[in-house]
Amino acid sequence: PTMLARSYATGKVTGQFTGKPDADGKYTVTMIPGDGIGPEIAASVQSIYKAADVPIRWESVDVTPSLINGKTTLPADAVASINKNLVALKGPLATPVGKGHQSMNLTLRRTFALFANVRPCKSVQGYKTPYENVDTVLIRENTEGEYSGIEHEIVPGVVQSIKLITKPASERVIRYAFEYAKSVNKPEVRVVHKASIMKLSDGLFVETAKEVAQEYPDVKLTFELLDNTSLKLCSDPSEYKSLVMVMPNLYGDIMSDLSSGLIGGLGLTPSGNMGDKVSIFEAVHGSAPDIAGKGLANPTALLLSSCMMLRHIGLNSYADQIENAVLKTIASGPENRTRDLKGSSSTGHFTEQVIKNL
Ligand code: NAD
Repeated sequence: PTMLARSYATGKVTGQFTGKPDADGKYTVTMIPGDGIGPEIAASVQSIYKAADVPIRWESVDVTPSLINGKTTLPADAVASINKNLVALKGPLATPVGKGHQSMNLTLRRTFALFANVRPCKSVQGYKTPYENVDTVLIRENTEGEYSGIEHEIVPGVVQSIKLITKPASERVIRYAFEYAKSVNKPEVRVVHKASIMKLSDGLFVETAKEVAQEYPDVKLTFELLDNTSLKLCSDPSEYKSLVMVMPNLYGDIMSDLSSGLIGGLGLTPSGNMGDKVSIFEAVHGSAPDIAGKGLANPTALLLSSCMMLRHIGLNSYADQIENAVLKTIASGPENRTRDLKGSSSTGHFTEQVIKNL
């Protein structure tokens, strides 16, 4: 199948969905409510979908990790559900710092070979921030780099964490970035890197991009050092409207939070973890333990992630309807915005307003 879907930000998302609806026309999607604010924002999505009569049937799974032979392992029923449905919507999952189980986010990305993380970031009209019309797309390598989990203590007081970059993983995420750029009519792919210092690892990423670019003569390839990108994004993000950024894992993690800050914070930014077979959509933010259980969470990021998911499935009109209702609600004033957007609304009130605006 051709690339079916669009992102909320730009109009299209690449990625192939090969799933089929059930006999009643509904698609079954795996729901991972997650930790912290996860269950609250997942419930908001589910009630808005019910009100909009979206033909989605949720299959909720728990992904509490277990350690099997010293390896962090996903519950078998969660893996089976995602493999069957091919699409999941995921709330945030907390990771213990310094010790304990490995990140379940990383485990999910590795288990399903979700090699490209698409993170669009677009200003919300009616919510004022220092820059208007921010419209960036960042594609993050999602499987290796500093997140490979290869760490050891050499002697007490000396540790080593390995940044792993491979040509196959670089090639597939860079090719994905070119395909994405083509699908959204952006004329340029920009590789963000630090090959001036990481000569071998980022150097391989850069050299691979030059090779892949040969296949895309109509898309311009440019390069930029990460520190320069940080400076430029903060001082004038307008240049980034007409390009797609692609970068190694850690840089993508950090730069997407920076981009979120430009438009009003983590409560607003969605993402899609794309693989060849399975895709998992989730907010960029984490479990927000500081506000969990208080009814203060902004469900927008998960809602917009779910709209990316709907477009991936091909349910574009429902995605448009929900996205428009969400954006209209945010623009309608501080009484309908959650606290992270300088408003006074609870998660529940916001959800009700979105439903009214459907
Ligand atoms: P965080 O994103 O959870 O929170 C950062 C700040 O943003 C907090 O002040 C929080 O209240 C606020 N915030 C985030 N989402 C919000 C929302 N929807 N509405 C309103 N405010 C929101 O980052 P953190 O505190 O560094 O991490 C908490 C946990 O989440 C950690 O265990 C971390 O490992 C995990 N995490 C998970 C994911 C994921 O599941 N993909 C991503 C990032 C962090």
